[in-house]
Amino acid sequence: MNEATVTVIGGGLAGTEAAWQIAESGLRVRLYEMRPRRMTPAHTTGHLAELVCSNSLGSDLIDRAPGLLKDELRKLGSLLMRCAAEAAVPAGGALAVDRDVFAQAVTQHIESHPRIEIVREEVTRIPSEPAVIATGPLTSDALAADIARLTGSEYLYFWDAIAPIVTLESIDFTRAFRASRFDRHSPPATQATPSETGAKADVDTQSETEGDYINCPLTREEYDAFVDALVSAETATLRDFELRDERFFEGCLPIEVLARRGRQALAFGPMRPIGIRDPRTGRRPYAVVQLRQDNLAGSLYNLVGFQTNLKFPEQERVLRLIPGLGNAEFERFGQIHRNTFINSPALLETTMRYRDGERQGYPALFFAGQIVGVEGYAGNIATGLVAGLNIARLLKGQPLLSLPPTTMIGALCHYVRHAEQKTFQPMKANFGILPPLEGELGRRPPRDKRTRAALHVARAQADLDAFLARLRSE
Ligand SMILES: Cc1cc2nc3c(=O)[nH]c(=O)nc-3n(C[C@H](O)[C@H](O)[C@H](O)COP(=O)(O)OP(=O)(O)OC[C@H]3O[C@@H](n4cnc5c(N)ncnc54)[C@H](O)[C@@H]3O)c2cc1C
Repeated sequence: MNEATVTVIGGGLAGTEAAWQIAESGLRVRLYEMRPRRMTPAHTTGHLAELVCSNSLGSDLIDRAPGLLKDELRKLGSLLMRCAAEAAVPAGGALAVDRDVFAQAVTQHIESHPRIEIVREEVTRIPSEPAVIATGPLTSDALAADIARLTGSEYLYFWDAIAPIVTLESIDFTRAFRASRFDRHSPPATQATPSETGAKADVDTQSETEGDYINCPLTREEYDAFVDALVSAETATLRDFELRDERFFEGCLPIEVLARRGRQALAFGPMRPIGIRDPRTGRRPYAVVQLRQDNLAGSLYNLVGFQTNLKFPEQERVLRLIPGLGNAEFERFGQIHRNTFINSPALLETTMRYRDGERQGYPALFFAGQIVGVEGYAGNIATGLVAGLNIARLLKGQPLLSLPPTTMIGALCHYVRHAEQKTFQPMKANFGILPPLEGELGRRPPRDKRTRAALHVARAQADLDAFLARLRSE
């Protein structure tokens, strides 16, 4: 099996990192990139690893989640981190690059590797030979159709409608309270289902036990003030190609679009109060915003059905009008954009290997990059690195690697494997996805954010060092 050639599909951030890791392990790689023969709606060059939007790879400070992620990538020998260092431009604590210099450096390293062959063609079918699929958020239609055939179309999404996430500790429980709806058979919000639209809409059927939800109750006056602020708030601009696809509008309506359809639309939709009783008044509130646990640690909560395209500062301003969220700390803002991704918790291992591949005739199939539901340039490089290392190990008969979940890369892989399937949404690096510190400390961790971050970083670094030491002694 050592003579195998690995096919990598997609020469973006994840695909080039995967190709490099495989080639460095001694195996041959055939890297398929469809550009420039066939362009995506967002890329503008034929370079590998083109950054389609921002030229920043995010914070490079070690006490920030993206900084920790980059530190880990460097320790694991990432090619793209090396190229980013060569292309870096001044950006304070962030790692920003000259996008052309960066893409050219990656292209040059990949082109000149003796074990990598680049084929400038669109792949339309998943190969049955060893392969990594890293075709990103704008995967071509033909390949997306074949992925849907493999996974089942209900496990492939084309739109990302993300609801904001806040930290538990920032919620004001003098206003908010825990409860689930009494009427467990109430119909879902007035949205098409994800399988009908290829979009991720949040349908809230609430079969969970009572008290799973945090509820923020609104009086009529508070609801009116909220709707007024919402309909007049500034939205982010969608790209032309994103607006063209009308499935988006019916599949995952942003709250501001819904609110513009009628003053009561939210009260009968995601803010419906049916089955909710405020323990302080003993009465049903006029409207309610529900928050659902978002991470295993229980430190993050998302606003159910609150996908929004408002500009980030506007989200902060408007959503803080909700009683209980006056001082909310946003771990992630809502967003709506074109995004092809699979339901990884149903399909992948933490190694990025496709779980059911042996049975379906794809024994060495891996996914990497944004298509697995990881967000952010560095996160996508990371899953490319993990998939590349692991497919090479599989072909060499070595056990596959899962990084410790206490590291930022390990936590991202753990998230895409273990997140809730029904409500799976892409995730970027953040301290909320790391296992809680209580276990190690034997007491409540300090309240101060910076001190907690420092403890997370120290644990992640120690665990990665131990992991690498074990790997070297193999
Ligand atoms: C409009 C837009 C703006 C974005 N802005 C940001 C941002 O500012 N910051 C950020 O962190 N992330 C941003 N993202 C997300 C960004 O795409 C990812 O972070 C990152 O590029 C994903 O890496 P990837 O390797 O998974 O995909 P990509 O970098 O997109 O690489 C996938 C590659 O696969 C190729 N491909 C697709 N289908 C086929 C096929 N069938 N055969 C052969 N090749 C194929 C594509 O041409 C592409 O080169 C943005 C995404 C979009 C769509």
